[in-house]
Amino acid sequence: MAVPLCTAGWFGWRALDHSGPAGATAAPAASAPAASSPAADPASAPPAPTATDQPGAADPGAPADGTAAPLTPPVAPPPSTTPTAEAPPAPADAAVLTGRTVLLDPGHNPGNSAHTAEINRQVDIGNARKECDTTGTETNAGYTEAEYTLDVSRRARALLAARGATVVLVQDGDRPWGPCVDERARAGADAHADVAVSVHGDGGPASGSGFHVIMPARVVAGKADNAAIVAPSRRLGLLLRDRFHAATGEPYADYIAKDGLDTRSDLGGLNLSTVPKVFIECGNMRNSTDAKRMTDPQWRQQAARGIADALTAFLTTQEKTEER
Ligand SMILES: [Zn+2]
Repeated sequence: MAVPLCTAGWFGWRALDHSGPAGATAAPAASAPAASSPAADPASAPPAPTATDQPGAADPGAPADGTAAPLTPPVAPPPSTTPTAEAPPAPADAAVLTGRTVLLDPGHNPGNSAHTAEINRQVDIGNARKECDTTGTETNAGYTEAEYTLDVSRRARALLAARGATVVLVQDGDRPWGPCVDERARAGADAHADVAVSVHGDGGPASGSGFHVIMPARVVAGKADNAAIVAPSRRLGLLLRDRFHAATGEPYADYIAKDGLDTRSDLGGLNLSTVPKVFIECGNMRNSTDAKRMTDPQWRQQAARGIADALTAFLTTQEKTEER
């Protein structure tokens, strides 16, 4: 595994979490996250997904207003490139997540690039101060990370809602920029979420490919105290690493992390969260192979399924000893 840590750009990216233009300082943060209605009808919801039976692709143009994702009937199996090594936890019924709340945090915001002053404002992440948010990265062809994260999050919302979960998106393309990372972190508690996942695409060196999951290091500093979520977040991280890999065939990152897993203490979204939370960097958008996958709607549906399956597994196993 080559870990090219030799370029200034690379260090810059690590320092900022993601690449993105710098700007000035700025204005206040934002509004509360938009909640989406849950209430899947068990009678009409699709059956539990299996490795060869994926729920219908969510409409990428699905409502951006936070309304319940449409229930979709089962459709054709995924493309032949789909690995089928591992079936999801196979919920016994379509409403297996009824009563549970999931927070999905689509990284960045398509509008951030037009609000550099606002997103470069420094916010307190407990053990440091950091930019409110960044623009995120993009493929060489200009498909942005923010577009990617929002699309995959909406697809995952549809899948989770079909399993009965209440799903809240931190932003749903319904605000001009942000929110800031500290607000993203608070959103889990604000939504009374049981669990949260922040969806990203990486901006690593072009020669590197693969995905990785970022779990919270224990941070007890200033306003941050995430000690209670470290263990359950690790369980979530392992599930997400495995389910995402099974759903997409995406290899573990070969340029960062180890075995698809990283632990960090410099992300406000993890330092300040009080509900179990991890980040997933679904691929390296600066790598041509990963970029091709991430711009493919069918692959994004597989990515969403991997995320939804991991959250389903997290919420339906072992929770009594770890979270309650
Ligand atoms: Zn990102």
